[in-house]
Amino acid sequence: MTDTAIPNTQLADDEQWMRHALQLAERAEAAGEVPVGAVLVKDNQVIAEGWNLPITDNDPTAHAEIRCLQQAGKALQNYRLLDTTLYVTLEPCAMCAGAMVHSRIGRVVFGAFDAKTGAAGSVIDLLQQPQFNHQVQVTAGVLADECASQLSNFFKRRRQEQKSLKQQRQAEAAVIQPDAGKS
Ligand SMILES: [Zn+2]
Repeated sequence: MTDTAIPNTQLADDEQWMRHALQLAERAEAAGEVPVGAVLVKDNQVIAEGWNLPITDNDPTAHAEIRCLQQAGKALQNYRLLDTTLYVTLEPCAMCAGAMVHSRIGRVVFGAFDAKTGAAGSVIDLLQQPQFNHQVQVTAGVLADECASQLSNFFKRRRQEQKSLKQQRQAEAAVIQPDAGKS
């Protein structure tokens, strides 16, 4: 962090907005979704918020960033979201990075890196493609540890829940049919 060119005030603002995004991610988790949260900011004011809801909405595109961009367009009454910054707790996927380029946001700040689907540099970099007609400035890894542990704690808890559910079912099956589970 010390060798970064980001001024300290900028970093403090970035961390403050990332904490806001972390709180929005909790709403996704409360709905049984993978916790990812996003907030779009202009002139240090909230324009729109979003959190991950694809399972709830039966919508594969209902990622935190997409929902945030859609809400922002309505709020600003403009399909271009010029001079805005999007904060998101997880590195955007290819779909969301593409939508960010279309929306012409100025900058994206993300927390945790996503080695499997990250399209802001981890797997591919769609935000700074010189061949595209717009490039989005990227600040990576703000509150990365907090963002990553929110996700890993969620997956850990879910694995434990699935495991105890499985054990409970096996126990129930053994009561009904004593030989069950021995094969
Ligand atoms: Zn996405």
